[in-house]
Amino acid sequence: MSRDRSLTAYVGLGSNMENPRRQVESALEELKALRPITLLKHSSLYRTRPLGPQNQPYFINAVASLATTLDAEALLDQLQALEQAHRRERGGLHWGPRTLDLDLLLYGGMSIDTPRLSVPHPEMAKRAFVLLPMSEIAPPDMEIPGMGRLQDLLLKLSGEGIERVDR
Ligand code: ATP
Ligand code: CA
Ligand code: CA
Repeated sequence: MSRDRSLTAYVGLGSNMENPRRQVESALEELKALRPITLLKHSSLYRTRPLGPQNQPYFINAVASLATTLDAEALLDQLQALEQAHRRERGGLHWGPRTLDLDLLLYGGMSIDTPRLSVPHPEMAKRAFVLLPMSEIAPPDMEIPGMGRLQDLLLKLSGEGIERVDR
């Protein structure tokens, strides 16, 4: 399904398997190639300590902004197809290792709550590996529906366990 006008969505990328840096870099290229999606910006890459089980490798995380006329569920379909193309296996440990995770963080200024989709991503306000890269590419005064301003949320988080990857 499509909308008449495009809006801006933010997507969180993460990987901690099979050359995570390459997984994230190639996912950014693949996002660029998808239609009707225009990749607007992407953050630097960050190396971050895993959530949940600690006996797994560090993650590489980034955030991208894109313009699209796809509706939110159709965008999620595209993101999940990309995960599948990276041979993501579902049904493993919750928050366990994965080749590629693509979370829809924000979809315009909309709040969405369906069985498949919660937007804004409900955990994003707690996650430095989301907010820090997002703050590189989003307006600092950006309002996250129901959660507050990006820069205020970021101030509440510690920068522990996350570092920018040098190019
Ligand atoms: P978390 O969501 O806490 O980061 P996760 O990324 O490991 O955990 P997944 O196994 O990738 O979770 O996704 C489980 C389901 O979450 C997906 O099948 C999808 O339907 C649903 N989902 C709900 N909201 C979103 C969202 N905003 N972005 C991506 N998937 C979502
Ligand atoms: Ca996730
Ligand atoms: Ca996910």
